[in-house]
Amino acid sequence: MYSNWIVKELKEELRKRGASLRGKKVDLVERLELYDQNFNFGRAERVDGHDPKMDLPLGDTYRDINSNTVLPPIDKTALRHYLNYTLKKSSMANELYESRHLLTARSSVVGDYTYVKGHCRKTMRNLQYEVNIKLHKDGNPVESHCECPAGSAVNAVCKHVAVLLLGIENMVHEKFILLHEVCTQKLQQFHIPNKFYTGTPVHAEKMSKKKKGNDSWLTK
Ligand SMILES: [Zn+2]
Repeated sequence: MYSNWIVKELKEELRKRGASLRGKKVDLVERLELYDQNFNFGRAERVDGHDPKMDLPLGDTYRDINSNTVLPPIDKTALRHYLNYTLKKSSMANELYESRHLLTARSSVVGDYTYVKGHCRKTMRNLQYEVNIKLHKDGNPVESHCECPAGSAVNAVCKHVAVLLLGIENMVHEKFILLHEVCTQKLQQFHIPNKFYTGTPVHAEKMSKKKKGNDSWLTK
């Protein structure tokens, strides 16, 4: 039966069953037949063999979080419940947040949910991970995902998720968020004088000759 299928269809069917996609077409056909004969080896049927991802709003709907942003009223209790960290781990996350490991924090509201997207600096390296958190309007985190190896699936509780949650909580209760300031964030100002010259231009011959000696060769 499977021999009439094209490779793409075979792979799709194998993926649904959580089976390996390796090998030539004959291998794929044989594997599917084996899976049929053995009732999928007791494996649960998976709709998608990939790592489940969060459904996120479009990138251009996000706005930078500032003190005027309306955020769900997340508190430290909700945060602790969601992360379920040990005391040591939560103080470590706090330390990361306070040493400004959070680079950006933006939010987008869709119905009852607020999506927060942040970038968190990787410890000791100049790399960053994208973190996404979905919050219900009552203040409870519903889903979270991070790009780091520990942040897969839709309920990741890695330290980067913790740092972003701490930032949101901080903004909700203290109206500020600690972000890492990058050197390009501030406009360079070295060409702007501290004081502007307000006098009128002076003719060269009327200029005071305070520096004698140095310019004597100009006048002969
Ligand atoms: Zn992470």
